[in-house]
Amino acid sequence: MLTCREVSRLISDSLEHKLPMSIRFKMRLHLVMCKNCRTYEMNVHIMRDIAKNLSDIQLPETAKLSDEIKARLEKIIAER
Ligand SMILES: [Zn+2]
Repeated sequence: MLTCREVSRLISDSLEHKLPMSIRFKMRLHLVMCKNCRTYEMNVHIMRDIAKNLSDIQLPETAKLSDEIKARLEKIIAER
């Protein structure tokens, strides 16, 4: 049986790519029995949905960085 640590890693991996059937089966089996991992999985999906929705939000013009500030930030980042 998979450990909670392995399952939490697999949950994250499953967001990026489809896991092999046998791994998914082992993961599901663990999730049926482990409330902590079920809660973790739910939270991961909620966070992913929130992140997805945030990227769809259009910021008002006043909330955007001016070109001058952007250029300054890029310079600071480049110098690090
Ligand atoms: Zn677990």
